[in-house]
Amino acid sequence: MSYTMNVLEQAKKNNPGEPEFIQAMTEILTTLQPYVDARPEYEKAGILERLVEPERAVLFRVPWVDDAGKVRVNRGYRVQFNSAIGPYKGGLRFHPSVCLSIIKFLGFEQIFKNSLTGLPIGGGKGGSDFDPKGKSDREVMAFCQSFMTELYRHIGADTDVPAGDIGVGGREIGFMFGQYKRVVNRFEGVLTGKGLTYGGSLARTEATGYGLVYLVDEMLRRHGKSLEGRTVAVSGSGNVAIYATQKVQQLGGKVVTLSDSNGFIYDAEGIDLSLVKDIKEIRRGRISEYKGHKPGAVYTEGRGIWNIPCDIALPCATQNELNGDDAKTLVKNGCFAVGEGANMPSTLEATEVFLQNKVLFAPGKAANAGGVATSALEMSQNSMRISWSFDEVDQKLRGIMVNIYDNIAAAAKEADCEDNFVAGANIAGFKKVAEAMMQQGTV
Ligand code: GLU
Repeated sequence: MSYTMNVLEQAKKNNPGEPEFIQAMTEILTTLQPYVDARPEYEKAGILERLVEPERAVLFRVPWVDDAGKVRVNRGYRVQFNSAIGPYKGGLRFHPSVCLSIIKFLGFEQIFKNSLTGLPIGGGKGGSDFDPKGKSDREVMAFCQSFMTELYRHIGADTDVPAGDIGVGGREIGFMFGQYKRVVNRFEGVLTGKGLTYGGSLARTEATGYGLVYLVDEMLRRHGKSLEGRTVAVSGSGNVAIYATQKVQQLGGKVVTLSDSNGFIYDAEGIDLSLVKDIKEIRRGRISEYKGHKPGAVYTEGRGIWNIPCDIALPCATQNELNGDDAKTLVKNGCFAVGEGANMPSTLEATEVFLQNKVLFAPGKAANAGGVATSALEMSQNSMRISWSFDEVDQKLRGIMVNIYDNIAAAAKEADCEDNFVAGANIAGFKKVAEAMMQQGTV
């Protein structure tokens, strides 16, 4: 068996009961196999064995008091996966599904994503099984303060810089930043996604969604196509989905769907984004409320969003939301491009279906890297104690996404699998990290 497949088999045995982490490793190591096995120096240096093992993982108790005066306990996590090219960087996810497997798959993917941005950031991820849904602002604050009262000792502006992810937005980042500053008595850029009054960057809110569409737009243009007049299916209705929808609309496409964990809306006339922002960003409501304000729209409970015919699909909800059957349906309905706004939204089977059918497929590691890239720009601004204008940040973001496209396309071509951006992203992301690890010795 080859070096790469040996490491994968051993890693599967070493991480029982962690299906998402095993899925992420399987995808990455399988596509890296020809590249790595042709370079025996990686085996000698044990690069892959080191890569699949986090440098550090912290698991902690988060006690807090709810509005009824009862003590509640959640689990907190921070996995510091790889710091070869910069301080650990990656979001915090607050969602009931959070467990070690989810945080490890996210942290592992983050290593390659962050490398692809071209910026000096390592890979990490964290979070909790706490569910902010239905909690009062005071309960969310109590939880965030307790979470940071443990996390603060593991992070720092030059050590590990967390940010948002599912369930963690501006409100949560604010509460955590306040508690960090209070505990360490230092004002520093320890978190990104901060509010604009205390060190946040303009365009960070929009960055993941905008970046996704910049990359998809570039991929289409290089293949003689464009977003103009296209029908686009977007899933999710959080930060990524909302700003991806906005950018698609600005570039002349028509978004016809959005979803949440309960169901999805289909609006053949095109999504009314100000209505969605009011429901989601102001009232923190559910996407089903859209129908009450827009009589032409249809709300469907449960799965089924990928049955809606579209030219382009942008899964922006969560991992494994799009399976092999969904992919076949999309292909049958004429979908010719997919951009992953979420982390690992397509299952291994779905990815295979897209690649076999020559769908232009931009994997999350490349396509959603605009968020973390803009976080790195926020870190730069904090270090320099300045702030750039919206247009400056937006232009840098666009340049970064075009650069990512160039790199993943070149790596795919070099590996003799032109237009396979899954392999291209993994190889391009891996190269830089592996090189840095080799130069730093056995650490
Ligand atoms: N959670 C986002 C991601 O998956 C953003 C991370 C960050 O800004 O550090 O990349």
